[in-house]
Amino acid sequence: MIVDTHMHHSMFPDDFRIDRLLDCFPELASVPAEDLKNRFHHPLETYLAETQGVVDKAIVHTYNFPESLGFCQSNDEVAERVNQYPDKFAWCCNINPFAKGAAREFERCVRDLGAVGMGEWGPSYQFFHTNDKRCFPVYEKAIELDVPIIIHAGPAKGRTCRLAYANVWDLDEVAIMYPQLRIVICHIGFPKYEDTVLLMQKHANVFADIAWLPNLAGLDMPEKGSSGRRRGVPAVRYPYYHFLYPLVYYLSGASGLPDKLLFGTDFSSVDPVKYINTLENINDLTRQFNLPEIPPDTVHAILHENWRKVFKLQQAI
Ligand SMILES: [Zn+2]
Repeated sequence: MIVDTHMHHSMFPDDFRIDRLLDCFPELASVPAEDLKNRFHHPLETYLAETQGVVDKAIVHTYNFPESLGFCQSNDEVAERVNQYPDKFAWCCNINPFAKGAAREFERCVRDLGAVGMGEWGPSYQFFHTNDKRCFPVYEKAIELDVPIIIHAGPAKGRTCRLAYANVWDLDEVAIMYPQLRIVICHIGFPKYEDTVLLMQKHANVFADIAWLPNLAGLDMPEKGSSGRRRGVPAVRYPYYHFLYPLVYYLSGASGLPDKLLFGTDFSSVDPVKYINTLENINDLTRQFNLPEIPPDTVHAILHENWRKVFKLQQAI
């Protein structure tokens, strides 16, 4: 059962504060309105149509970054959209830990709206340190509710994102204090891959997802709406540093347990079907770069099994 543990949807312009979006990505100011819509309008139905028969279930992460990116999705809206397709989607809520009553709202999202975790939290998008004690009630609530927290703990690229909050190692203190808390570090901590790997090796309940990595490496880009979704193709096709390197670095370490990497796409920035194909044939790539083979069992576990260590999905097989 293939579970995409990390994807997004967005309705344009409803889910956005356009002024903040343009402030974060000034290059978008010259993009015609219709192309902006191509770029940022990705309803759940698009994902379903593109992944039918390939992805069994996907976990929709909520974007709640009004402070930086200008993505403003409310938990209630995301729940309403996702809960139309309970067989196909689950979802994670997103609450700024400094918001009044954050832990209470977290509990409401899980118990009343069916959220299966908190994510995608973005310290550099939302301006907090993950080891700030004001986050602790949320961690304690996650343990009580038996759900994970999924964190884009590394840097974020938008102009108004704050790199001061992008210290992956802040999570060390959290994992020491809360060893039962299941933490997923998005994108293996891009570009702090080594930092993330050390945390995963140190802490039994720290995991990482491999979402977005192909996009960073110029692989598996969406083709549709060439003026819209296809973006950032590198001048040199060299999918080593942001795809093969973090995988081989982690898996070749003595504590690189093959059950701690979770498949995710970060749709719409990556084409899910292409990404699955790339993973299933990953040794075509490792051979090109004279790298060691990644065992097929490891790839199978990433795609089909490892999510079970982190997420409790209803109707899961
Ligand atoms: Zn994401």
